[in-house]
Amino acid sequence: MDVIYSRHYNIDLGLLNRLHPFDGTKFRAIHDGLKANSRINFVEPAEPASMELIDGFLTSLMSKQVRSAVLVLRALEVPRIPFMRFSFIDRKVLAPMRWGVAGTMLGAVNALERGGVHWNLSGGYHHAMPQAMEGFCIYNDIGICHGDLVRRGLLAPDDKVLIIDTDAHHGNGNAATFKNNRNVTLLDVYNVGIYPTSEYTRRRVDIPAPMAMGTDGETYLKHYAEALEKLADGYRLAFVVAGTDTLASDRLGGLCLSIDDVAERERLTLHALSRRSIPTVMLGGGGYSKDSAKAAIRAISICSEIPGIH
Ligand SMILES: [Zn+2]
Repeated sequence: MDVIYSRHYNIDLGLLNRLHPFDGTKFRAIHDGLKANSRINFVEPAEPASMELIDGFLTSLMSKQVRSAVLVLRALEVPRIPFMRFSFIDRKVLAPMRWGVAGTMLGAVNALERGGVHWNLSGGYHHAMPQAMEGFCIYNDIGICHGDLVRRGLLAPDDKVLIIDTDAHHGNGNAATFKNNRNVTLLDVYNVGIYPTSEYTRRRVDIPAPMAMGTDGETYLKHYAEALEKLADGYRLAFVVAGTDTLASDRLGGLCLSIDDVAERERLTLHALSRRSIPTVMLGGGGYSKDSAKAAIRAISICSEIPGIH
């Protein structure tokens, strides 16, 4: 199984790391935890996604706003720091995210060419939209990638595409991005008691699996398996936002899954998609706790052993 990783994914602000609960170096920890696994083939994007590509996705107002230190810091949910220049934020935080977008692109191209599962350790910025950035998401990698694949003729505009979002938060950015594109199916499992609560984006979800605050692993997995049963066949490509902020140890997600529950969730996902022969790009999504890297390592290890997954 291909796992997509670049050392450039890591966001390390040194002493400033304490400004945010996000562990920006978890990608390195996941890579290091998997590098001895002979079933995993690490692949690396050659360069970050260009601003030209990203600007093609954004509204003209957002193209300006993603270059504003004040507005980017607000979207990253860190306090305004008067001395911090945009060039510093761009180099330390936004460039790693553009590498993450490139990883999603690489996974999608390889999935369409060869089928199978391609697991990007980064990406899954599901709160970003063409007209907004929020919730630690600046660039909507799935939307940017989908647009580029259609432009390059690798996807037809009417090809059926599936987005499964198992991050604890509702994927309002994907719902807004694909608001008028019914060729894209959204399956979203999310905690109803936390951000974001926008009704108009929740209404866009085709297969919702809302979870109450504090839902345990057994209940979550039962409802998620039922949601997966509702999937049709015939998808050309699937993106999965596999956030690990569903872990009980996560301060933001408000759900109570164990590391084994998260691994079982990813196994259920890949079983459902491989059974339907859907080329798949797994994406890191959110995950802020001390157990986040451990859960990803366990999940990827277990999924790499599923017969038929390559
Ligand atoms: Zn999340």
